Amino acid sequence: MTAQRTVPFVDLSWQTSRIRDEVDAAIAAVIDTSGFILGPAAAKFESAFAQYSNVRHCLGVGNGTDALELAIQAAGIGSGDEVIVPANTFAATAEAVSRSGATPVTVDCTDDYLISVEGVADALTARTRMVAPVHLYGQAAPVEDIRGVIGDDILILEDAAQSQGARRHGAMAGSLGDLAATSFYPGKNLGAFGDAGAMLTNNDVFAEAVRKLRNHGGIEKYEHSLVGRNSRLDGIQAAVLSLKLSHLDEWNQLRRNAAAAYATLLGDEPRVQLPVVADGNEHVFHLYVVRVPDRDRILAGLAEAGIGSGIHYPRPIHLLSAFSHLGKGEGSFPHAERFAGEILSLPMYPGITADDQQYVAETLLSLLNDG
Ligand SMILES: *Cc1c(COP(=O)(O)O)cnc(C)c1O
Repeated sequence: MTAQRTVPFVDLSWQTSRIRDEVDAAIAAVIDTSGFILGPAAAKFESAFAQYSNVRHCLGVGNGTDALELAIQAAGIGSGDEVIVPANTFAATAEAVSRSGATPVTVDCTDDYLISVEGVADALTARTRMVAPVHLYGQAAPVEDIRGVIGDDILILEDAAQSQGARRHGAMAGSLGDLAATSFYPGKNLGAFGDAGAMLTNNDVFAEAVRKLRNHGGIEKYEHSLVGRNSRLDGIQAAVLSLKLSHLDEWNQLRRNAAAAYATLLGDEPRVQLPVVADGNEHVFHLYVVRVPDRDRILAGLAEAGIGSGIHYPRPIHLLSAFSHLGKGEGSFPHAERFAGEILSLPMYPGITADDQQYVAETLLSLLNDG
């Protein structure tokens, strides 16, 4: 077999290589001061990310799923309450709702893969306390339209795990609702060197609650005014995140350039559905998701050609066994269900080369023609 070209699905080493010397020094500084849990490095990052996101408070926590769960808990939502979530999302959105004791209520998505505002309106009941739109694949959900149909008494929690740096009508993702949760999982647009996450809000009461809940229910040692847990940002992760934050806009621009290149390479092929950017959105292409006929054959063909691709996500929330108790069977959400069988995420990361993208596009087009 001849050595074959490979294009990984994600390549984090490109980012790391750009900041390696600074990262080594920043990690060494945390080690030298032993500020391992929260501490000065975390405080510095929290303040920088709050400013970047244009919100008053950023609370660093252990991961994005915890950030969602702590936000729900901080808002006083739990048993007997309903939280509306999109059917088309990563499991964590619904998982956090269930973990907090509330009931996730799934709704369909529209052609841009974002939560359907009509679906939200139809799902409202007397028990609805919160809507958790997901800024999926890197573009913001229509938060202001959701506000329009739910009124002022229901809270909006943005799942901003895939949207660091995205804007909607000029405003930052994470500043659009009442609370937001984000993830710094290594592969996210702003990724740590391990697990990390944050909760964002302008609300002082919610911020204070998360500050306690993430730290065994108190801010001072041995003060436990709430039953909390342990979910805190590490100093080392925070130091890495501060460095990467200063490159985020530049790296998001490289993602947008790569998206434009794919659109040029694939745009003439009617069998490939390109991503739709919703009105008012500045997309940050956490993922580059197309739809193709005969998706599973195409995915296998790409893998054979040395190209990494993925499906985000293979099953909508309501069809996962973990959520079968919600009682929404097949046929409940036709868009989300149809898309799950057609979507394909192509390699997308800052540092992907024009040659790599050309190879991905040529391979994809020739696989379509082999069908
Ligand atoms: C990554 C992700 C999460 C969870 O983040 P973790 O840090 O892995 O816990 C939640 N929601 C969405 C949409 C995500 O992509």
